[in-house]
Amino acid sequence: MSKICTRCLLKDFSREQYEKIVVEGIRALPAEDLVSEEIESVRLGYCRQCDKINQGTCLACGCFVEIRAATKKGRCPYKKW
Ligand code: SF4
Repeated sequence: MSKICTRCLLKDFSREQYEKIVVEGIRALPAEDLVSEEIESVRLGYCRQCDKINQGTCLACGCFVEIRAATKKGRCPYKKW
């Protein structure tokens, strides 16, 4: 059965919606707690392909994956990254 995409990541939402939820959330974190953009991008690549993602939220843990993927302490509950 093929996956029906309903905007996999919040990046796919309007700029205003995205900035309010993700950018402000990440900006609120200390810089030393964040991973590089390269690591974040690799992590989000797994999320984009995952059947647990729904509108930027991981159905396995309930988090906004883009915020979780940006942090050093962030982990995938299914150990995909
Ligand atoms: S954090 Fe893991 S389980 Fe959740 S959407 Fe991303 S890859 Fe899938």
